[in-house]
Amino acid sequence: MTPFEFLLPYSLEEALSLLDPEDPGIRPVSGGTAVMLMMKAGVLRPTRLVSLHKIGQQHAAIEVKAGGELVIGGQAKLADIECHPAVRAGWPLLTQALRGVANARVRAVATLGGCISHADPHLDMPPVLAALEARIAISGPRGERMVRAEDFSTGYYETVLQRDELVTGIFVPPQAGPGAYLKMTTRAAHDWPALGVAVVLKMNGEQVQRASVFTGAATDRPTRLLQAQSVLEQRGLDASAQRAAAQAAVAEAPLMGDAHGSAPYKSQLLRVALPRAIEAALRRSRSHA
Ligand SMILES: Cc1cc2nc3c(=O)[nH]c(=O)nc-3n(C[C@H](O)[C@H](O)[C@H](O)COP(=O)(O)OP(=O)(O)OC[C@H]3O[C@@H](n4cnc5c(N)ncnc54)[C@H](O)[C@@H]3O)c2cc1C
Repeated sequence: MTPFEFLLPYSLEEALSLLDPEDPGIRPVSGGTAVMLMMKAGVLRPTRLVSLHKIGQQHAAIEVKAGGELVIGGQAKLADIECHPAVRAGWPLLTQALRGVANARVRAVATLGGCISHADPHLDMPPVLAALEARIAISGPRGERMVRAEDFSTGYYETVLQRDELVTGIFVPPQAGPGAYLKMTTRAAHDWPALGVAVVLKMNGEQVQRASVFTGAATDRPTRLLQAQSVLEQRGLDASAQRAAAQAAVAEAPLMGDAHGSAPYKSQLLRVALPRAIEAALRRSRSHA
């Protein structure tokens, strides 16, 4: 292994000062679950790792603000978010989706900031955060900026982050209505998804006032399925509307094949997954009513 510096700053400001917009060899590290795998595989050979471990305490809070928004620090561990009572009560979609990410050992170490910054298109949480209309707080030498979760990933392992910026918070508005994330894997249930579908339905009685539908893992970034949303908003949620929405989703999603399956295989997964995700969302909301 090529030698590298490992630095442990004690404040966000110090951490930011150790990053360099010009040097791709300098990388922040949070839980390290992805960084270590990339280093072992030889695809990442850093000259400097800036660990965010010591700033964790100030940037790992999970709290509900007075206006009802959930604010999650970038250094919050996936397991802490999954087990948080306020998250379970107000954002059941987050709890449900987190339970299926990797395994308990990874979730005990990995952070939400590290997770979304990694931008592997197969990650489970980015389509979920996009469907919840979350915003990402990004800190850098020029101050803080907010980006919609939907716009954060710009392609295969690409994000809007500059090399001298860090994800410091995730702001999630109240969950608008029933929601579910369906993860289709080709091996164990908690494996990386071949396709993921996140659905949030804002209801007005029996009417769908607004549908938020995203797919992940089969596209190079979380992708909003506009036509599928519009079918659900116009036709409702009966079986034929669900089938029509799934058909629209398959027609519009720029699905790509990979090691988890070909593009035609993923089309079939999407056709099946979207109605199942809608049914799961409705079932969960009935059981909590
Ligand atoms: C065995 C295993 C199975 C897995 N299975 C799944 C799965 O089924 N579904 C799934 O979604 N994920 C899965 N993962 C991936 C896992 O979710 C990620 O590895 C994890 O979320 C990354 O978080 P981290 O804190 O460890 O990030 P790190 O490894 O520390 O960092 C990841 C990337 O983000 C950058 N980074 C870290 N923190 C920040 C920050 N605050 N601001 C800006 N950039 C930052 C790093 O430079 C690096 O590029 C799996 C991982 C493992 C090891």
